[in-house]
Amino acid sequence: MLTLDSLLNNRWIAGTGAPERLVDPTSGQVVAETSTEGLDRGAALAYAREVGGPALRAMTFAERGALLKAMARAIHAHREALLTLSTEAYGATRGDGKFDVDGAAGTLAFYAGLGKRLGDARWRVDGDDEGVMDSKRLVGRHLCVPRHGVAIHINAFNFPAWGMAEKLAVSLLAGVPALVKPATPGASVAWRIVRIWHEEGLLPDGAVSLLCGEPGDLLDHVGPQDVVAFTGSSATGRLVRGHPAVLATGCRVNVEADSLNASVLGPDVAPGDATFEQFAREVVHELSQKAGQKCTAVRRVLVPEALLEDVREAFADHLSRLVMGDPSDKATRVGPLATERQHTVVEAGLSALSALTDPFAEAGGDVPAGGAFVRPQVRVRRAGVDDAWIHTHEVFGPVATVLPYDGAAETAVREVARGGGGLVCAVYSDDRDWARDVILGVAPWHGRVWWGSAKVADALVTPGTVLPGFIHGGPGKAGGGEELGGVRALGLYEQRVAVQGDRVLLERILGDGGASV
Ligand code: NAP
Repeated sequence: MLTLDSLLNNRWIAGTGAPERLVDPTSGQVVAETSTEGLDRGAALAYAREVGGPALRAMTFAERGALLKAMARAIHAHREALLTLSTEAYGATRGDGKFDVDGAAGTLAFYAGLGKRLGDARWRVDGDDEGVMDSKRLVGRHLCVPRHGVAIHINAFNFPAWGMAEKLAVSLLAGVPALVKPATPGASVAWRIVRIWHEEGLLPDGAVSLLCGEPGDLLDHVGPQDVVAFTGSSATGRLVRGHPAVLATGCRVNVEADSLNASVLGPDVAPGDATFEQFAREVVHELSQKAGQKCTAVRRVLVPEALLEDVREAFADHLSRLVMGDPSDKATRVGPLATERQHTVVEAGLSALSALTDPFAEAGGDVPAGGAFVRPQVRVRRAGVDDAWIHTHEVFGPVATVLPYDGAAETAVREVARGGGGLVCAVYSDDRDWARDVILGVAPWHGRVWWGSAKVADALVTPGTVLPGFIHGGPGKAGGGEELGGVRALGLYEQRVAVQGDRVLLERILGDGGASV
């Protein structure tokens, strides 16, 4: 059994008191324990600010990029062990584990490349100099400089490796140290990765800290230059955003929360079309990958009434190919949920859904006994019910609901918007006018819109895949946050400041010191 300690003040230290036990969701066996009781979070944040911050700010973007590259390589070198650990820690199949672990290494490598492009600068310039009140002498220049605080990264349980890496890649590249607080379930994966980085001597002193277990009074110690980047449920996101110290200090907060992602099938698409096949394949993939525990998984599927029977058949066909079972078996496509608690929560969600929906299509075979398994399934809204619950509650498992509609673009946009803001909306159509109306109609409600069509029907990437060069986040219910997106991502950890003064003098002291990518 693993004992998960924390990396604070550049030292590994375990909490005192009764540990929390972490359980393998397939076997029910205790596989790790952790405690953060008695750990001094305030001192750890101060250490990161005073030691890690200056060390990172002294490095150029290229040097920070080289650090990220080494971190990516270290993950890759330990890939097999991390995949095995993912199965034990949160029930990941090999495919699910790869999605997380390879995604972590890939994202770090992407930002390593960006660091190389940004070169020898230590901060960035945003745009050209602008004259103040049309003056030729008195000008202003926007600089983006690293904040002098700590990035507090609070992560969700479903992506212990990628969730940590996608935040760290950006804050370290910006020159800001981080304290990572992984979700307690599945924390062994994040813990092991940080241990690898630390043991291999990759991390500048104080650049990365890890708090493994309960957050305790962590947020009581935030300062005005800190950034809290939170990923998790809307309910916890509200607590974080409304925390008294967060409000009092005005520290920056980014919230990535849950989302009722939608897929919309256009009325022009017919069975046998490449677009129809793409839609059916991707919906079933999105609802079943990681047993549906993906923030970008599809929850609502809008299907024109005239196509309902064809869609049912196609979903049944794809669902019948899913093998549910022991995630350590290579043939398994759908493993258990990450914890027994998630199992209970998802079963409660299914029971609420069953009051409003009927079965539509589901995976076959027996549900394995004993573990936290849920049968992958699609349900269909019952005619005439008040369906508000379906648009507001995320059932965080392998479950989606079909919402029959009349096929009109306005109806699709109105229904999708009832989710109150999402991470991604997928639209499937080969009718350009219809697609444009839906894409532009749903755009204000999302961080990303995916257009499936015959032209990209064989794409290997699916709508739920978050790529480092494109933004991730969404308005409203999805948290209102924004992460990733290449160079855009750095802004979360930088202070943009307009420096105004004499043009010649500014040029003398700032010169070409900032990167202008
Ligand atoms: P959660 O229960 O909200 O927990 C998220 C994180 O917050 C965990 O690290 C948790 O630590 C921590 N936390 C809990 N209470 C806290 C507090 N009072 N102060 C500071 N931190 C606190 O969410 P989850 O169950 O881990 O994740 C599932 C949810 O995350 C789903 O709703 C999913 O949609 C969402 N999600 C969103 C995204 C996105 O990018 N938008 C990505 C992944 C997941 P403990 O585990 O120690 O309690």
